[in-house]
This record gives sequence, structure tokens and C-alpha cells, in this order.
Amino acid sequence: MGLQHFVMKRMQQREDGVGTMPTPKAERNYLTKARKSHESGETTYITSSPLSPTNGFEMLGNKEAEMFEFPEKIRMVSFKTIRYMIRILRARGRSFKELVQNEEVVEIEVRDNGNQELWEELKEYASEKWGIKKIGFTRIPTEFIFSGKFISYPYALVFIEEMRKDPIDKAPEHAAGVETMRVYWHLGNAVNDIARWLRERGIKCQPNHPLDGLTVTPPLAGKAGLGWQSQFGLLITPEFGVRQRIAPIFIDKQHFNLTDSLEHEWIEEFCSTCGICREECPTEAINEKRVPYLEGVETIGALKSCIDRPKCYPYFLETTGCSVCVKVCPFSRGGGVYDQLKSQFLQKE
Ligand code: SF4
Ligand code: SF4
Repeated sequence: MGLQHFVMKRMQQREDGVGTMPTPKAERNYLTKARKSHESGETTYITSSPLSPTNGFEMLGNKEAEMFEFPEKIRMVSFKTIRYMIRILRARGRSFKELVQNEEVVEIEVRDNGNQELWEELKEYASEKWGIKKIGFTRIPTEFIFSGKFISYPYALVFIEEMRKDPIDKAPEHAAGVETMRVYWHLGNAVNDIARWLRERGIKCQPNHPLDGLTVTPPLAGKAGLGWQSQFGLLITPEFGVRQRIAPIFIDKQHFNLTDSLEHEWIEEFCSTCGICREECPTEAINEKRVPYLEGVETIGALKSCIDRPKCYPYFLETTGCSVCVKVCPFSRGGGVYDQLKSQFLQKE
């Protein structure tokens, strides 16, 4: 389904008063099975919490969620983007279909040393085959599971992939949107493949596609010590700033040492003195004040938001990806800027 078609469909659904995003068949089957399993009292799946947020896609045209005006014009998307969208939908389907392979897994035991050897092998495999340089491992708070979704396992390996600087620097031109789609496509394939690799080594798992996933990934990656949430909600990482995408693989047991940390917490204070994204946002969708929407999350404390989604989404759709906030964030320059900003900031304090 192309982006234009998707948007038209959502607009139609909005007029019809229908509220939920149509999901691909494999995911629909998975969620239906999970719901039945829950109703029968089994604990095969882990459900969202009453405090869980709504997935952004589900919000599109959902009368019960925040509403916004659809743009009159949507920029024509390129053949390249449509090709990525088709491949992404296929990869999302595969991540659910291949879950049956877990039934064949001969499980390894949890080791006291966090299975260091396998952890190193995993990092090497992800880096050499897929170019993924950042991995974290954490326990998933149920509040991070999107409302109405289910996951199979309670731990997450979290993978981060860089979006190239040149195309992102062209935001809000189409090149930035194409780059975002390219990374969604590549990272989605990467986690599907790494999940197969883990199963061959005795770990039951569920890869989750980075586009329209089952969990809210920026705080999940933040909890795994990979960065901190930016003023506009995406993750700031030391290596690429906000110029990256995130995908988890859920696993059944604590096979690795948790990488949770508060090392990047200083970024929250830095954002309150910066405000560049707020000044540059074409729709003034980034508010100055952050409002807590979830308190007391294990390791990272409160989650706060200051994005005005009804202001952001129409322009995001109109430009097929906007990304101005990603472009202008000083951390997105990469190449050692994190250390410079940190030392300047801590000196001022
Ligand atoms: S994506 Fe664009 S419109 Fe939305 S918050 Fe970022 S800069 Fe603003
Ligand atoms: S531009 Fe500034 S305020 Fe916005 S996320 Fe980046 S560092 Fe934080």
C-alpha cells in the first residue's frame, strides 16, 4: 500500500468514523491470537498497561484520540519510497509469521556472567552483516507496550541504525523522507535476520519492525542506556544524535547483562537551555514545557512530552517525513559533538 493510498484510506476512514489503522494479515492474526490467549487466562503474551500510550499510526483519524486536520495536498512520493513501503510491509509480515520457528528452538540456559561470549558474537554479527554499531539490553516496562498490543517476551535487545547525514540535511525535502524509509527497510530486515541467528543459538525471540511497532522505542532505548529522549520525543544518541532509527528484538529470558544506565540523563537539562528544534519547527509543534505523562519508570524515572501532534502530523504527511527537528538538533551532527556539548554544558553548570 503506497503512502498516498494509505493516507487516502485513512481520510476515508476518518469520514466514516472508523478509528483503527488496518494492520497486515500476519500481525492481525498474531494480535487476535494474543487477545484470545489473554481472555482464556493464559500468560503466553505480555499485555500493555492502562497507562500505555497510543501508537501514532492508530491515532491517525482515530476519533477517540487526538484529532488533526489532514493536509489538502500530499507531496507526490517517489517510486523509491513506494518500493521501500512494499518491502517494509513484507518484512513486518515475516517478523510475525516466523514466530512459529521459536517452537523448534532448543533453549540454552541463562548464565551468571550474562553470556559474554554470545553477547560479543552478537555485536560482531550485527556490526559486520548489518552495520549496526549500537545494541542495548533491557527489561521492558509494560507501559512501553502500545495500548492494545501484545508482546511475546519480557526482555528487549535494542538495535540502533544511523540515518545518513547528507539526505537528512535536506529536510523537509523528499530526500530526507526517502532516507528514513531506507533505514526502516534495512533495520527491519536486520532484526528479522538477527532473530533467526539468535534462534539458531538457542534463544526464543520476537523481532519487531521499526515502523509501526509494538512498543514505544525511544524510551526503551533510553532505558537500555543508548541515549536520552530529546525535547521532541525521539532518542538522542551520542553517536548520531536523533539521526537514527530503533528496532527491538524481544527475548524470553535474561540471557545478557542489562545495559540500563542514566549516563545520558544530562541531555534533558541541556534541551531546556537549547530550544533550537522548537525555533526551527515549521509548524510550531514543539512546546517549551515538557509535561510528564508517565511517572516512576524503572531506571529512567518520568517520561515527558511536549510535542503537539495535531500540529506536527499534517505537515509531516504533507512533506512525507518532514525531519526538520532531526536535522537541526546539534547532536545530529555526530562525529564527537556529543562529548563537546557535554563538556561545555557541564563546565557552565
Ligand atoms: S517533524 Fe517537522 S513538524 Fe513535526 S515536530 Fe519535527 S520539525 Fe516540527
Ligand atoms: S535541538 Fe536542542 S532542544 Fe531540541 S532536541 Fe536537540 S538539543 Fe534538545
